[in-house]
Amino acid sequence: MAEVVAESGPGGLETLDAVVVGAGFAGLYMLHRLRGLGLSARVFEAGDGVGGTWFWNRYPGARCDVESIDYQYSFDQDLLRDWVWTERYPRQEELLRYLNHIADRFDLRRDIRLNARVSAATFDETAGRWEVWTDRGDHLSARFAIMATGCLSATKSPDFPGLESFEGDWFHTGAWPASEVDFGGKRVAVVGTGSSAIQLIPVVAEHAAELIVFQRTANFTVPAHNRPYVAAEHDLEQYDERRKFVRESFGAMAYPGNDKSALEVSAREREDEFEERWQAGGLAIYGAFTDLLVNAEANAMAAAFFAAKIREKVDDPALAALLTPTGFPIGAKRICVDTNYYETLTRDHVRVIDVRASPIREITPSAIRTDKGDYAVDAIIFAIGYDAMTGSLAKIDIRGRGGHTLAQSWSAGPRTYLGLGVAGFPNMFIITGPGSPSVLSNMVVSIEQHVDWIADALVALRARGDGLIEPTKEAQDAWVAHVNAVASRTLLPSANSWYMGANIPGKPRLFMPYSGGVGAYREKCDEVAANGYEGFALTS
Ligand code: FAD
Ligand code: NAP
Repeated sequence: MAEVVAESGPGGLETLDAVVVGAGFAGLYMLHRLRGLGLSARVFEAGDGVGGTWFWNRYPGARCDVESIDYQYSFDQDLLRDWVWTERYPRQEELLRYLNHIADRFDLRRDIRLNARVSAATFDETAGRWEVWTDRGDHLSARFAIMATGCLSATKSPDFPGLESFEGDWFHTGAWPASEVDFGGKRVAVVGTGSSAIQLIPVVAEHAAELIVFQRTANFTVPAHNRPYVAAEHDLEQYDERRKFVRESFGAMAYPGNDKSALEVSAREREDEFEERWQAGGLAIYGAFTDLLVNAEANAMAAAFFAAKIREKVDDPALAALLTPTGFPIGAKRICVDTNYYETLTRDHVRVIDVRASPIREITPSAIRTDKGDYAVDAIIFAIGYDAMTGSLAKIDIRGRGGHTLAQSWSAGPRTYLGLGVAGFPNMFIITGPGSPSVLSNMVVSIEQHVDWIADALVALRARGDGLIEPTKEAQDAWVAHVNAVASRTLLPSANSWYMGANIPGKPRLFMPYSGGVGAYREKCDEVAANGYEGFALTS
């Protein structure tokens, strides 16, 4: 199956077995597995370094909100033994160091091209191959096109009128400069109050002379209770058991579940359960009761617990009310994890402006303007999020059978089989694509599962004589219907979230990730493989 890499193959093109787009957690591991199968591969990465999310998001306070012990690769025992984390939740710098270590340790760099954005990929039906182009002039041919482009890598642009006239510096959290940014003595605006903003606000407030937070929607946030990583956690014997639990869980995290309904227990037991998870820190709160994400009453109880916590931390009743999330169920937007968020918002030099009541109208050379007036600032941080799940793919001109584009196939929203493949796009795989648990999970676990599944599929294809693998339309339609049916039994679609595409004007609204849980999803993928790649057409 492996091809000789030819600098100038048929038609003058360089030919390879596989092209991988993106060099984050997904692209790096995919390259390693392809090499292990004896396949020739090239990774193209738009950034000038590897690391994906952890390369781009260098904003102050950026860190993971899944515990380091779970947010790491598990495919190599020596790697697990050698790499020792320093904190319960790793900082961006540490994650970037880890991913650079992976690139060096597994000798990946020689097949990675940096500063190379893939602009187009076209399936040549006659040759049964993908032709791929980059914005720096690469043009090559590969049997497989593997999209490791990231669910949260296409930033939402800050298209506020007048931004071009702003005379201070402005930043997007998802494209933060590599050089140090000094906010010392400055008046700084932060637009947005999602996970990124909630992480950076307390850190920027330490340096800024004045910090103005422009909040449109208050979010639910839990304290991280970060701490140094303890040696006892670095126990490989226990690790295997932990990873097994994580792989079979709902969200690929190690917090314990609870089979009880929030409605069946006493008020005291309910409060104790919430409190225990709040004190544990991080996302454990998701597992407090079995019906939190499916029953509005149970969900409201969790929301009331959070509201009480906010009132405990914020003395000013008007500010506490403004910071209390309303109008959507807890969990329907991703719960944030913070360190000193509310404590920071009560500091004298920090203000919160309600831009739901008075939206941002424009940006002037020196201020952010709302109907209530001008807020003079020296720097603006846009923490306004991403064109999630489909944005990075939409930027590539992807053409499958008959020249049909992915944009056409997805005009009413993304349609995939298992989030891994798309009917009409043979030998193309998406890592953690829409229709898979992806962003509802600890993504490193979901990425490893997808990469391993794809590698196994390539081996199966090899056994059948190296043909094409492609979802059937029927299997895809059934999977899309299943994804929608599962989501509709939950409260998840009832917020204007990025999960729904609601943060991007004009984007079709549907719940994009699969909400059946990573354990059940893994079983389904394994079953599909065991049944000879049921739902995929394999042709020679
Ligand atoms: P990415 O890391 O996004 O990498 C994709 C890469 O593809 C990028 O480097 C991009 O430049 C490149 N690319 C895209 N399009 C092209 C193209 N056309 N040509 C060439 N290159 C291209 N997940 C968790 O599970 N836990 C967390 O705590 C967590 N924290 C997060 C914090 C932040 C700030 C963000 C933004 C996301 C977070 N996530 C978290 C999600 C995170 O994206 C994933 O965990 C994981 O890093 C995704 O890896 P990836 O390789 O799939 O994608
Ligand atoms: P986000 O969750 O989409 O939050 C964007 C914020 O910007 C929201 O508060 C949004 O308000 C606001 N906003 C957008 N456009 C606006 C406008 N025109 N005017 C005013 N406000 C506007 O983006 P994010 O914070 O970057 O996080 C994205 C995802 O990345 C997270 O959900 C999470 O999955 C991941 N992440 C994780 C971590 C972590 O803790 N490890 C950190 C960062 C990111 P509305 O809600 O009203 O739209």
